[in-house]
Amino acid sequence: MQHHHHDHSNQSGSAAEPDAPRTPKQEQEDATTDVTEVAPGILRTQLPISMPGLGHVNCYVLEDERGIAVVDPGLPGPESWDHLVDRLGRAGFAVADVHTVVVTHSHPDHFGGAMRLQHESGADIVTHESFRTIFDTSELDDDEDSEALDVNSPDDRAAAMERYFAQPSPWGGRRAGPSPEFMERMRTAGSMFTTPRPTQPLVDGQVIKLARREWVAMHTPGHTYDHLCLFDPEFGVMLTGDHVLPTITPHISGLTPNADPLAQFFDSLHRMNGVDGVSIALPAHGHPFEDLGGRAEHIIEHHEDRLDIIRTASHDLPNGTVGDFMRVLFRERSWGEMAESETYAHLEHLRELGEMQRSFDEGFAHYATVD
Ligand SMILES: [Zn+2]
Ligand SMILES: [Zn+2]
Repeated sequence: MQHHHHDHSNQSGSAAEPDAPRTPKQEQEDATTDVTEVAPGILRTQLPISMPGLGHVNCYVLEDERGIAVVDPGLPGPESWDHLVDRLGRAGFAVADVHTVVVTHSHPDHFGGAMRLQHESGADIVTHESFRTIFDTSELDDDEDSEALDVNSPDDRAAAMERYFAQPSPWGGRRAGPSPEFMERMRTAGSMFTTPRPTQPLVDGQVIKLARREWVAMHTPGHTYDHLCLFDPEFGVMLTGDHVLPTITPHISGLTPNADPLAQFFDSLHRMNGVDGVSIALPAHGHPFEDLGGRAEHIIEHHEDRLDIIRTASHDLPNGTVGDFMRVLFRERSWGEMAESETYAHLEHLRELGEMQRSFDEGFAHYATVD
């Protein structure tokens, strides 16, 4: 799957470092059928996903007098759906109990089950107001009321994907496009791959009541522009989605309409560090953890280190392309569009800081240090 990615390759250093056997990361663990209460009225369940470096997505179940809200209900498709129904059953609930689906951001392992839940139980869909996937064809509908439902057909989605991947990357060169596995999943998932249309789009600071208490919406752009965290000040619970994960660093894509996604990510991480009274962080992958501020700082340092590697490398690569810098930043097994995209985000950040300048030669971006 090409657009949802976490970067697991860059935990320690550069491409020059030989591959050593690494301890499996907790985000890689296979999904279990366990149902664990991780905070009052909040249950952790896990749904299987199979992506590089990820073995499960946490689907949290938030209980209240009206039924339940679920957070990030897994991938599209019947297989994941069956697991979701199974986990809800183990927690003592049925699909009909779901009154709300929270989707932390626009990646398929997070939004996949949302539309079917809405369809079967009438659940509200809560996202940040900027929620938008690359499959979203809603800009094609001039008239929201007319054929809006048909626009999200498999053909339209395929066309949207083709348009998306037909564009050259902003740093030059051809896009790899989605994998055959991804296209197959999209085809077999059929209408379940429709883009969720949020019924409760939240803005930063807005309050929503779930699990018998009030949560504050925190817009945390970085991993995706539309990323949403929810904070419950009463019990100190933070739903962190993919913004802050316990042991891997979330992928930062350079492919965004925003000039400097890395700067936004830094801001969003600093915000995590600034929240008082966090007792537990509930990530979308991996185990719940306590030191949210410390983890956020660690991720900031990781990216600062990467920026330093680029600064140093730029002396040997006086007019390097994104690909040149990627080969310095990433191990060979990670080379590819994803690594290029993240490298591009770092180079553009240095350009925004005024440390590097960019020129184009035969369609490829080149970066040079500003003296
Ligand atoms: Zn994600
Ligand atoms: Zn994820």
